[in-house]
Amino acid sequence: MEGREACGVFGIYSFRKDEVAPLVYNGLIAIQHRGQDSAGIATFDGKQIHLKKGMGLTSDVFSEDDLLAMKGTVGIGSVRYPTCGSSSLRDAQPFKVDLPREGLAIAHNGNLVNFTALKDELNSGGTPIISGCDSEIILKVLADELNRTEDIFQAVAKVMKRLEGAYCEVILTGRGELIAFRDPNGFRPLCFGRNEDCIIFASESVALDINDVELTEQVKPGEAILVNEKGVERRLVAKSAKRHCMFEYVYFSRPDSILDAGSVYNIRVELGKNLAKSHPANADVIIPVPDTSRPAAEGFSRESGIKVEEGLIKNRYIMRTFIMPEQSIRDDAIKKKLNPLKTILKGKRVIVIDDSIVRGTTTNKLVKLLKDAGAKEVHVRITCPPIISPCFYGIDISSHSELIAFRCNGNVEEIRKILRADSLGYQTIEGLVDAIGIGKEHLCMACLNEDYPTPGAAKIAKEMKKRSGEEIKEKKRYWEI
Ligand code: SF4
Repeated sequence: MEGREACGVFGIYSFRKDEVAPLVYNGLIAIQHRGQDSAGIATFDGKQIHLKKGMGLTSDVFSEDDLLAMKGTVGIGSVRYPTCGSSSLRDAQPFKVDLPREGLAIAHNGNLVNFTALKDELNSGGTPIISGCDSEIILKVLADELNRTEDIFQAVAKVMKRLEGAYCEVILTGRGELIAFRDPNGFRPLCFGRNEDCIIFASESVALDINDVELTEQVKPGEAILVNEKGVERRLVAKSAKRHCMFEYVYFSRPDSILDAGSVYNIRVELGKNLAKSHPANADVIIPVPDTSRPAAEGFSRESGIKVEEGLIKNRYIMRTFIMPEQSIRDDAIKKKLNPLKTILKGKRVIVIDDSIVRGTTTNKLVKLLKDAGAKEVHVRITCPPIISPCFYGIDISSHSELIAFRCNGNVEEIRKILRADSLGYQTIEGLVDAIGIGKEHLCMACLNEDYPTPGAAKIAKEMKKRSGEEIKEKKRYWEI
């Protein structure tokens, strides 16, 4: 529960020429969990692109009047968490340029590994980059390619050759077209639903549900889809090498979403079952850390026969703490967010189920919270295997030295002592792969096993690991003195 989120995107084309701004708004509300820093919508009314974006939740940024004023039958939207760039309006999405194709607006989810190289290339080629955000880079690379060809698919194919990393894009043009594409590895999710009224693209299927549109299928890795007056055209424009992010299943996506591997809820139940098989514990009660861990706790309970109870009550009106960029804010928020239910915990041997441990600071506080509330023993069970390496694909796990599993060299007993838990058990890689069920060759698990699907990320990780190892050694020496 300490990780941070990528962004969420939404795009809609109304075949019936209905106003779409309220539907974009609904979609963004459904995927708000993917980013709470800023929100934005762009629509096309047949003549011009309207754009409004602002800081905060979708409901903070848009009033009813705003939505009524945003005319258009094609629209895109974004909710953002800054894994690249800053937490400021300058970096909020969608981004827009006036040319080519009478204008382009883009909403992006993911993270570019070769951001700096592309930024330098564009700046030196006379295309200034004004934000610190990779959406602007992708937009300008796409604009560059569309200046050379009228063929959208050819342009996107060229764009994919120039980008390294994770990217799911929805793009609106000043010709009233909607374009969606997904990187060849398909790190982040992107699905679509289509009926006679409209087609909707979204990071997660819950954004279709809220608009009463059935999920049709997932956008394929390396695929581009163009929607215009002629209809819907799909093409694979890059060789696909499916490597879906395992963390979407463990933690990020909503449990009621359907991703490439199927129902997130069912997969989390399986994660819980596999965890109970590999790391059983003698206990009186299973307590999930709300909300992500509930299905896994259910799975653990089905396998172990131990009952699940709500021993931690979440204050619904506190923002999810990992969203907050500063550690000091996070520490303060944890205390306010969860309240232990003493009547459930007092004198009990407790298994607490959480999705992941990044730094260890949150889990440490949780164990203390449960013990202070009267738990006799606290057995920590984690549905994700130890995170030992950073993510360069849009999840904010930014350095080795922040990771407790890296700092402790993967020594689970050492981590347990730091957490002050009575026992600690992590999911095994085999248990994770089995629960997701699409084969390890189709998953990215680089933050667990250092097997980065793209070469630039592998190279950066190697250099960072060396530096972090030296930093940690230096710190240990300092403490020894
Ligand atoms: S490195 Fe980890 S968090 Fe990042 S995309 Fe791969 S599995 Fe997901």
